[in-house]
Amino acid sequence: MTETLTLPTQTDARRTPRIPVAVLGATGSVGQRFVQLLAGHSWFRLHEVVASERSSGKSYGEAADWRLDTLLPSDAASLEVKSLGSDLESRLVFSGLDSSVAGEAEDDYANRGCVVVSNSRNHRMDPDVPLLIPEVNAEHLGAIERQRRRRGGNGYIVTNPNCSTIGLALAIAPIERRFGIDQLHVTTMQAISGAGYAGVSSYAILDNVIPYIGGGEEEKIETEPRKILGRWENGRFVDAPFRISAQVNRVPTIDGHLMTISMKLREGSADLGEIRDAIRSFTGEPQRLGLPTAPKQPIHYAVEPDRPQPRLDRDREHGMAVTVGRLRPCPLLDIRMVALVHNTIRGAAGAALLNAELLEAKGML
Ligand code: NAP
Repeated sequence: MTETLTLPTQTDARRTPRIPVAVLGATGSVGQRFVQLLAGHSWFRLHEVVASERSSGKSYGEAADWRLDTLLPSDAASLEVKSLGSDLESRLVFSGLDSSVAGEAEDDYANRGCVVVSNSRNHRMDPDVPLLIPEVNAEHLGAIERQRRRRGGNGYIVTNPNCSTIGLALAIAPIERRFGIDQLHVTTMQAISGAGYAGVSSYAILDNVIPYIGGGEEEKIETEPRKILGRWENGRFVDAPFRISAQVNRVPTIDGHLMTISMKLREGSADLGEIRDAIRSFTGEPQRLGLPTAPKQPIHYAVEPDRPQPRLDRDREHGMAVTVGRLRPCPLLDIRMVALVHNTIRGAAGAALLNAELLEAKGML
């Protein structure tokens, strides 16, 4: 028997048969989310899975140590795992590769004409690669034409941000757009699934908080939102002008990155009711286009004084909505609040699916 978790889809008869896709790094934490979410997708169909030499040649069911709380989809279980670098039949390629190999491999597939929609950090800050959150910066897709020219073909790479960055950038987007941000301080409490399955030993994390996450986590959170909330203008990205200070912690939750945020606004303090309204009413291209994975409301505002909480709020809109709460004045800066993002859905595989849906809706696949 097969049981799958499916995001709600808005069926579109024009898009049958579904587009065949490949997943690079399909056996990992993010890769398994891709496989899970693709099982119920109305536009895309999982056709190929790719992983390391450790897994290639085996069936996906044999190679993947399936860790999600829905059953492994039977169609995926029988696929043979291909090795990285193999020729692929799919033009659309999702990547959940380890960053030690993602840079070169993603470039290689894009140069062969594939559309690579990546989670990895390697190409996020490239000057012609969109770092995309479709609700926030869909116009950054303008960079693809320049990237295609550089590659001399039709292939290209689009990336989604770091898992904490997505939560932060979405939560602050309505505030930056309406009131302008001058300075921002963020402290994250990040779930252990963000480190991959073998990432943090239980002996290290149980009864503990680790005030450090390697791989340049703080630097990513300090730089990526500025690109995301900046503009694509005259053939280049212009960063948003505000500065960010980030401190990160690994905490013993399974899924859901929680963060506390304080902000100084460009025009001084704003009315809290107006900010709340801006957060609640924020929508973008995915909602306008009715993309299958789009949350109806990208940012939920939780009114209870002790929310959002990872266990209670991470699955809102199937893990695709960010939840904000506790908006109040800050005695040092102007305002402060709490935000929560599901790190492997909105922060990884779900984000990449939404990016690919936007590309399809814009005729770019
Ligand atoms: P993971 O669980 O360690 O999975 C890594 C995947 O990469 C596996 O499929 C692995 O295949 C494959 N791989 C490793 N070395 C390889 C090699 N030499 N050649 C080919 N394939 C290789 O990692 P993860 O947590 O899913 O993260 C994947 C990527 O997404 C990372 O770049 C990470 O920074 C990013 N990311 C993760 C999250 C998150 O919440 N976890 C969120 C956003 C972004 P084998 O199983 O065959 O070894």
